[in-house]
Amino acid sequence: MRIKKLSAGDIIEAACTRCRAILNHTIVAMVEDRVVRVECNTCHGVHNYRGKTEKKTPAATTSAQKKQTVSRQQKKETAASERDEWQALCSTVNVDQATPYDMNGKFRANELLNHPTFGLGIVKNIIPPNKMEVLFEHGKKLLRCQ
Ligand SMILES: [Zn+2]
Repeated sequence: MRIKKLSAGDIIEAACTRCRAILNHTIVAMVEDRVVRVECNTCHGVHNYRGKTEKKTPAATTSAQKKQTVSRQQKKETAASERDEWQALCSTVNVDQATPYDMNGKFRANELLNHPTFGLGIVKNIIPPNKMEVLFEHGKKLLRCQ
């Protein structure tokens, strides 16, 4: 099958910039075998030949929010608020009354204790059968108790 060689004056399909559609165009100018300018048969606008495919717009880069960063931020805020709570509680209590922590000891909620590693802490919750949540300066800890 013989391929017809295009030349000026021939009709080809092209994307018209004004009509925004693939329409018949008349070739106006050519450089060697390449069509460079065409005239739209519909609006008669003369423009550069773009071929049938419209120039693709680059895919929008999705800036996905990293959930990890968010949760880490929340953790930081929780730690800061726990520290504030601890400082507020410690300013109202008599440190001398702190009970030395003993894993076989019996503690009550809101009791002040003194832990050899974590320092001063306030008992927040008693978790049966033998655990309690204690708020220390550096956050809450689960400790053993009776
Ligand atoms: Zn047109």
